[in-house]
Amino acid sequence: MSLLGTVALVGAGPGDPGLITVRGRDLLRDAEVVVYDRLVHPKLLDEAPPDARLVFAGKACGVHALSQDVINALLITEARQGRRVVRLKGGDPFVFGRGGEEALALAEAGIPFEVVPGVTSAVAVPAAAGIPLTHRGVASSVAVVTGHSDAGGVSPPVQWARLAGAVDTIVVLMGLANLRRIACELIAHGRDPRTPVALVERGTTEAQRTVTATLDDLARGSAGLGLEPPVVAVIGDVVALRERLGGV
Ligand code: SAH
Repeated sequence: MSLLGTVALVGAGPGDPGLITVRGRDLLRDAEVVVYDRLVHPKLLDEAPPDARLVFAGKACGVHALSQDVINALLITEARQGRRVVRLKGGDPFVFGRGGEEALALAEAGIPFEVVPGVTSAVAVPAAAGIPLTHRGVASSVAVVTGHSDAGGVSPPVQWARLAGAVDTIVVLMGLANLRRIACELIAHGRDPRTPVALVERGTTEAQRTVTATLDDLARGSAGLGLEPPVVAVIGDVVALRERLGGV
């Protein structure tokens, strides 16, 4: 007889606690263990039962409070003890959330799991700032890329040179520290320096702040000073719609 528990990899949404899915909230309300990341709004943790065990897995600037291996092992151990585990991750678990790695570890360990998508910051944060990622007559394509330079070289590098002319809207996550270099690369490979850019800090929360500039401003290092992560950068002509849509 199997007494295995289950793990749900749940997307918490982009910040505003109202933007979790109904399925995600139901699972959270029924959880015995919740393993959560830094970007998860604290109010969401109040949804878990009072006797649920809450474990902070951290992650700021790529540094985990718990290493990925320890997180994977924790999920497996708790499930093997028959518990209902919710792994609560900012945005969507499969968009730069390492949810895929956790799902692989669970699959290999034979633990039943489900993935509950979340509203990704890549889409919701621009929306909260009044920026549609596609717009008739303005943008027909979008790329969501990491701006974090992978020093270890584990992941394939972002192909800035090809991206510059290939897509209309570029959404950069985890890019705050590298915006200047990114802007220089895009301009060097043909992107118009006058392209508008929006930097949205802590989008969808009470503390949301947006700075707009041009790609050229970014390349000169004169935009985005004083912003702190988490920030989504949107590069493309859609940013200009913000004025008409009354973005915050
Ligand atoms: N899985 C997440 C992304 C994790 S990577 C998702 O789907 O949203 C973390 C990056 O997401 C941050 O560096 C930042 O670029 C972005 N981000 C997440 N929440 C954000 C928020 N509320 N405001 C601005 N950027 C955010």
